[in-house]
Amino acid sequence: MSSSTDAVSVEEHRQRVLDAIDPLPAFDQPLMEAFGLAVAEDVHATVALPGFDNSAMDGYAVARADVATASEESPVHLPVVGEIGAGQASLMAVSPGTAVKIMTGAPVPAGADSVVPYEWTDRGVANVVISRAPTLGQHVRRRGQDVSAGDLLVEAGSVLGARQIGLLAAVGRPSVRSRPRPRVVVISTGSELREPGTALGRDSIYDGNSFLLAAAARQAGAIAYRVGIIRDEPQAFLAALNDQLVRADLVVTSGGVSMGDYDVVKEALAPLGTVWFGPVAMQPGKPQGFGTVGEDAVPIVTLPGNPVSSYISFEQFVLPAIRKMMGRSPYVRPEADAVLTHPMTSPAGRRQFARGTLSVVDGRLAVTPVGDQGSHMIGDLAESDALIVVAESVTRVEAGETVTVLPLDEEF
Ligand code: AMP
Ligand code: MG
Repeated sequence: MSSSTDAVSVEEHRQRVLDAIDPLPAFDQPLMEAFGLAVAEDVHATVALPGFDNSAMDGYAVARADVATASEESPVHLPVVGEIGAGQASLMAVSPGTAVKIMTGAPVPAGADSVVPYEWTDRGVANVVISRAPTLGQHVRRRGQDVSAGDLLVEAGSVLGARQIGLLAAVGRPSVRSRPRPRVVVISTGSELREPGTALGRDSIYDGNSFLLAAAARQAGAIAYRVGIIRDEPQAFLAALNDQLVRADLVVTSGGVSMGDYDVVKEALAPLGTVWFGPVAMQPGKPQGFGTVGEDAVPIVTLPGNPVSSYISFEQFVLPAIRKMMGRSPYVRPEADAVLTHPMTSPAGRRQFARGTLSVVDGRLAVTPVGDQGSHMIGDLAESDALIVVAESVTRVEAGETVTVLPLDEEF
C-alpha cells in the first residue's frame, strides 16, 4: 500500500475535533452527582476538622496533672463525676481531682486535657482506678488538627473520587460546582446489522459497534445513549439523527464513511457542508469524518464501521473530546514504553495502532501483538489490553525493540 499523501495526520484530525469542542458549562451539583466529575471551583474549608477537641478512645477525661504518677504499683483513684457520649454536647467541666467518663468522638470537657483509655483502668462507674498515666493531650483529637478553616481542599480541575467526596461532606458541603457528564448519542449504520437477541440471516451480523462505542463512552465518563440500528438509507439516517440532536452534546456514528456505494453517513451529511470527510493517516481507521449538525451545531464524529477501526478511532478522537467536555486532562491516554516480544510489520505513511497484551518480563513492561491484526477481529481486540503505536515512517519492528504502547485499562 502506498503512503496516503492526501491524508491528514492523527494529530491534525484530533485537533480539528478538539478545536470545535468546549468544556460543558459547570453548575452546582449534589455531591454524589459530582462523583467522578471535574470540579470547577477551588473548594476551601469553611470549618475546621476536627471541629472541636474530642476523645479518640472510650475512657476517662482527666487533667493530666492529676494522674501523672499513676502506675500498676501505685494507681490513682478519682471520683467519676459524669459521662459524655458521642453527640452529647456537654457543658460539664472536669474540676481538679475528678474524671468524666467519655466515649470516642465525644467533646472533651473543659478542665480535661487528656484521656485515659478503659484499658488502663478498672472501668469504674462512681470511682475509677487508673494504673497508667497518659502523656499530655494523649487520646485527644485537637480541633483543626486535620483541616483548618480556609484550607484549600480540592483544586479546580481535579476529579472527585471517593476520598474527596468524603472530605467535602465532612466539611459540610452538600454540593459542588462541577462539569456535567456529556450526553453522547451513538448511532450505528448498516443494512446488514441486527440487534443482539434477534435472529440472523445468512447476510446479516450483530451490531457490536453501538455497544462497543456506548460502553467506551460511558467508561470515559459520558452518559451514552445507544440508538438502534439505522439502515443504509440517507433519509432514515437524517431523520434518526434529527430526532437525537435534542439530547446530544456529541454524536458518534459507526459505519458508512468510506468509498462504498452505500456509505450512508457520508451520503447524508456531505451535502450539508458542515462535516468534513477524508482519510486520516492511520491503520486501522483511515476513513474519518467530523463536523457539526443541526441548529445548535452539535459536534458529530463519524467513525468507520469495522469494529476495531471504530474502537481505535474512538480512542483517538472521541475520548479526547469527551474529556475536554468534562474539563478533564490530559485529553489523550498516557503512553508507556514496552519491549516488543515478537516482530511486527507496519504500513508506510500511516500510524499503526496494533493490538497487544501487556506483561512484565525481567522487570520490564513487555507487549505481545495479538494473533491477527485485521480490523474485523473483535475477538482479538477484546483479548488485548494495549495499543502498540508504530510511527508513520516505520515499516518493521524487531522483537526486543522498545515500542510505544497505550495501556487501555488504566485510569488517567
Ligand atoms: P462500513 O464502514 O459501513 O463500510 O463497514 C465496514 C465493515 O464493518 C463491514 O464489514 C460492516 O459489516 C462492519 N460493520 C459496520 N457496522 C458494524 C457494527 N455496528 N457492528 C459490527 N460490524 C459492523
Ligand atoms: Mg456500512
